[in-house]
Amino acid sequence: MKPLLNEDDFFDLGEYLNSPDACNFQEDGSWTCYLDLRFTKKWLQEHNFDVEEMIKRINILGAYCDCEVLYNIVGPLAEGDNLQDMFEAGLENQ
Ligand SMILES: [Zn+2]
Repeated sequence: MKPLLNEDDFFDLGEYLNSPDACNFQEDGSWTCYLDLRFTKKWLQEHNFDVEEMIKRINILGAYCDCEVLYNIVGPLAEGDNLQDMFEAGLENQ
């Protein structure tokens, strides 16, 4: 079993979520999201993460559906936010 997700894992996950196989962002600004974390769960499973444990952590980071993983986690990380700080802030807000 791998340890908890790190920044690089989130960027890998983000790449998948951005792809046509997942959220499939269109030029007209629309995308696919089923208001759940089905694509994220699939990715976690395929990469041998503890899905239940990772979903808890992703929820704490503010994402409850696949596109929120991109908007609330991967985006801020790409802009330089610190994962550990984000996680601690999420814990305080629970
Ligand atoms: Zn969504």
